[in-house]
Amino acid sequence: MSKRPWGYQPQNQRPEPSWELHPDTHAIRTGLARSGFGETSEALYLNSGFTYSSAEQAESSFAEETDHFLYGRFANPTISMFEQRLAAIEGAELCVGTGSGMSAMFASIACLVKAGDHIVASASMFSSCYVVLMEILPKWGITTELVKGNDPDVWAKALSKPTKVVFLETPSNPMLDVVDIRMVSELAHKVGATVIIDNVMASPVLQKPLEHGADVVMYSATKHIDGQGRVLAGAILGSAAYIKEQLNPFIRHTGPSLSPFNAWVLVKSLETMSMRVERMNTSAQLIAEFLETRPEIKSVRYPGLKSHPGYAVSQKQMDGGGSTIGIEFAGKRAETFAFMNALRVIDISNNLGDSKSLITHPASSTHRRLAPEVQAEMGITESVLRLSVGLEHPADLLRDIEQAL
Ligand SMILES: *Cc1c(COP(=O)(O)O)cnc(C)c1O
Repeated sequence: MSKRPWGYQPQNQRPEPSWELHPDTHAIRTGLARSGFGETSEALYLNSGFTYSSAEQAESSFAEETDHFLYGRFANPTISMFEQRLAAIEGAELCVGTGSGMSAMFASIACLVKAGDHIVASASMFSSCYVVLMEILPKWGITTELVKGNDPDVWAKALSKPTKVVFLETPSNPMLDVVDIRMVSELAHKVGATVIIDNVMASPVLQKPLEHGADVVMYSATKHIDGQGRVLAGAILGSAAYIKEQLNPFIRHTGPSLSPFNAWVLVKSLETMSMRVERMNTSAQLIAEFLETRPEIKSVRYPGLKSHPGYAVSQKQMDGGGSTIGIEFAGKRAETFAFMNALRVIDISNNLGDSKSLITHPASSTHRRLAPEVQAEMGITESVLRLSVGLEHPADLLRDIEQAL
């Protein structure tokens, strides 16, 4: 609870608790920097610049001898509250908020690599992450090798070459492939690579990659962290050395900054995140089990099901299967679309991790940008749907799915 934004002068402060707080308490309390008004809730500092009491104070602030906010592209009190709160929940030394999940993904990698460097990544991922690794970075002379599955020999072979970064999306969007974070991290560290986890699908509630050997965690805060469909945002978490020496110099000058307003929405969202994610997780498990019993469904991809190829690994590194289910229909595209159109509660939408249950057809929406062979490699066919389970009563969601089937 002791962490406060830079330059913060405590007002009416009471002594700090003497014990280590639970993440759920950090989610409510940590980072809170009350102004002199003593407001209960976190204040929104909607400003781009800051003033100094003298030219000397400005100079010492820029020299980093005085703790003082400098400019909105670098930091802001409301953004700082969000960053410190999320870092405490995640168990990371530092956090940097960004304007979107993709700017977090891009910056977390780009700050580490130069022309000629090599990346190893898990093969199944969100389409924009794929485009960054396989289309944008190669233009700058940075190559990526993709590895499928969880075979340690296959990963060891890929990681026998000099590698700067290992990027894993686990579980993956939309097929919920699970990668063993500890196994890959140990192999990656032997060649000195930094392991970055896209932890969007699990959320900070259900998976803490740093505890399993990863170095850096990134989020699309647009998903479960906001979780109510309002703002676009991202976050990068890691050691003080990574954030201060690698990430900050890159971010400060390239400018993927988070808006203070969005940070204010997010700092309040963190207060309810664990309750929301736990409820979604319980409902998703029920729905996944129900879908598995249905003849209309060819296969259900959900890390909380024993039938999932990554079940054993997910039991080891996750506290639940998550809120997203991959569904493969027994029919073709027509039957799959007919099912989507027959739903009466669940919305058709390409977002996920929202309080509203949402369903999408990745082949024609989120992953349409990928070539058919790449989609096929990831298991995305015309009859695959991604269901993001929300906060509605599970009985209504089950009934909606049953009547649509
Ligand atoms: C949505 C998503 C992103 C990108 O986040 P934005 O906030 O939309 O930029 C990255 N990775 C995964 C796994 C996602 O689901």
